[in-house]
Amino acid sequence: MSATVYLVGAGPGDPGLLTVAGAEVLRRAAVVVYDYLANPELLKLAPADAELLYVGKSGNMHTKSQDEINQLLLEKAQELWSDNSPRVVVRLKGGDPYVFGRGGEEAEFLETHGVGFVEIPGITAGIAAPAYAGIPVTHRDFTSSVTLVTGHEKEGSGGAVAEESAGRVNYDALAKLDGTLVFYMGIKALATIVGKLLAAGMSPEMPAAVVRWGTRATQQTVTATVGTLVEAVTEAKLTAPAITIIGRVVALRNSGGVGGLDSGGALNWFENRRLFGQRVLVTRTRQQASDLSARLAELGAQVLEAPTIELAEPDDWTSIDQVLQHIPAFDWLVFTSANGVRATWTRLRTLGFDARHFGASSIAALGPATAEALEVIGITPDLVPEKFVGEELAAALKSHIGSAEIADKSFLLLRADIARPVLWEELEKAGGRVQDVAIYQTKLPDALPEEILSALRNDEIDWITFTSASTASNLQMLLDEELRQKVSRMKRASIGPITTAALKKLNWAPTLEAVQHDIAGLVAAITENCRSKK
Ligand code: SAH
Repeated sequence: MSATVYLVGAGPGDPGLLTVAGAEVLRRAAVVVYDYLANPELLKLAPADAELLYVGKSGNMHTKSQDEINQLLLEKAQELWSDNSPRVVVRLKGGDPYVFGRGGEEAEFLETHGVGFVEIPGITAGIAAPAYAGIPVTHRDFTSSVTLVTGHEKEGSGGAVAEESAGRVNYDALAKLDGTLVFYMGIKALATIVGKLLAAGMSPEMPAAVVRWGTRATQQTVTATVGTLVEAVTEAKLTAPAITIIGRVVALRNSGGVGGLDSGGALNWFENRRLFGQRVLVTRTRQQASDLSARLAELGAQVLEAPTIELAEPDDWTSIDQVLQHIPAFDWLVFTSANGVRATWTRLRTLGFDARHFGASSIAALGPATAEALEVIGITPDLVPEKFVGEELAAALKSHIGSAEIADKSFLLLRADIARPVLWEELEKAGGRVQDVAIYQTKLPDALPEEILSALRNDEIDWITFTSASTASNLQMLLDEELRQKVSRMKRASIGPITTAALKKLNWAPTLEAVQHDIAGLVAAITENCRSKK
């Protein structure tokens, strides 16, 4: 007996295009067997202890044969069964498993060996890549059929050895259909394919497009006509994996007709997003869920994240715990970061307190992210200043409480070990009694991930974002001289004046500084800069 094997379509590349059913089985996978076209981002859905087995091609490395893959699926399913595991084997394949993916062959093999299997379809690249390139594969005004064709017969996504076309594709019939033709695996054979279509009577004026890495942030599209396609693709140096679309629907992408590597147009929504093609390195803490990255990606940017700060608990809690016990005695609690909120809350829970501990105090939050972190624990801050630097918070507190009354009030600042003392000084100057606690500390990580270093080394980054002085100085400390020079030639975006001052000191004066000193402001500033350069 054996566990069930799920043949899951990973979709074309954009991780959001996985089905709900596919996500659900990935979450309970013991083993995931995946290939080249399945976006590795999706593997994050699998449990941390899942065995992840790559069976696709990579460079010139030996590829597992189809027989070896079949055997692997069988073995893993049997192992799970004998371990009495409730978990499953997932065979994750790019696009749809049954569309030029050898899913049918794998299913047959499992079936003959008595292994139960479930097939979860995926969105195939032949539909999705055109859609993301602004090409609907059917349209009532242009076509009434769409045909999915292999440009490489008897060959699948996992295979490395090109077999000669077995001649099973009827090009005469395809040319006569006058519908949309979608070719998979057709880049190497493009000249042959186009030649056969022309020989079968297709007009050389018929619109055509090639989409490489469709639906990913790196998507590239070339449009031409059947007569000029080979030349256009060669010129743009497009290589596999790419989908070729031939048919009148291709013209819907651009209002200005077809021709060349382009990004303008009518239905071309994906590549027209404001940050499409921009490669942005986001410096951040390891723990932060990156709102900034999500926003940049939504606008089309390719985002890489460099963890430049690690958060850690204080070395010694003793004196901090004493202060935390006395929270109800403070008139005001002032949080300067979302991390500060989370660290305080976690510690209070550890000490056995609950939400009632905050009962009597007023609460101020520096910036919307800090306010949001408070909302998560059920607290709406009494004061969130409009501007987000420390001076503004001090000024807002003064005007909120009234300068005269500040002298009677006690304040507790819950902050990072590296927070600036401005706020503290301002409140003291006004006569407030200020107590101040470093509720977490920040550390320099050991090193940056290799992926980041190589992107910097190979100039594969357009922008670097800095959201604090410490992300800037830490990044510098994590780089050698060569890479520091690289950074000085890239565009740098600063969230506000303090970060800008730090960047200047590091000889990395920013290309721009956000007008509004928060994440939304930073994104707006980058977008504005890119728009004015277009
Ligand atoms: N089962 C897959 C197809 C596998 S065949 C599916 O349903 O999409 C491999 C071919 O698929 C590639 O050579 C290429 O032509 C196409 N392909 C897969 N993903 C692609 C992508 N993101 N962009 C462009 N073409 C892609």
